[in-house]
Amino acid sequence: MADNTPIVLGVDLDGVCADYEGAFRLAVARQRGLDPASLPPQTILDAYSQWGLTFEEFEEAHRRAVVEDHLFRRMEPLHGVSEALWQLSDAGVWIRIITHRLIFNWAHETSAADTAAWLDAHQIPYRDLCFIGDKPNVGADLYVDDSPTNILSLRAAGRTAIVFDQPYNGHLPGPRATTWQDVVRLVQEELTARDRQLPLPLTDDPTHEQEG
Ligand SMILES: [Mg+2]
Repeated sequence: MADNTPIVLGVDLDGVCADYEGAFRLAVARQRGLDPASLPPQTILDAYSQWGLTFEEFEEAHRRAVVEDHLFRRMEPLHGVSEALWQLSDAGVWIRIITHRLIFNWAHETSAADTAAWLDAHQIPYRDLCFIGDKPNVGADLYVDDSPTNILSLRAAGRTAIVFDQPYNGHLPGPRATTWQDVVRLVQEELTARDRQLPLPLTDDPTHEQEG
């Protein structure tokens, strides 16, 4: 009998859909009166020790970036994310956004509202929006994430996690996507390997005409 349960793709936001680091760089540069170019790309994913921040300084800089700079509303989408997610959504994939953005005990209203506004503004299709740290328990079929910690905990829990390529995760084994079109291809390959099919064919043309 055909398996008709929807295929759920768990999608991380920061470093996968959205350029957190770029937006945070501008915020930290503003707060400290620095040239943004003086803050190098992170090659270790931590509390920005490579920018000279202690954990407490990161926490405060992040809090100010959220409430003063509205970085969750203003950050740039990564190239091709909307088109690729529409391509998957149109083919019947259930998109579940999973983010750990409520990590600190403040600014939840701003964080949640700005996140929802950003998803709308950048035409990201999704059916669920989960603010949660414990990603394996969200129960998606496949995940796409950039954090080494998340990838390792998902895989340790027996989940399939696609690594979204970033300078700080190059040591992790694949599957690995360097573009959003790679994500589309890898999702298709994973489903084929499991003998599951998308309800509808993937279109070759990823441009999505907004209705209404
Ligand atoms: Mg992330």
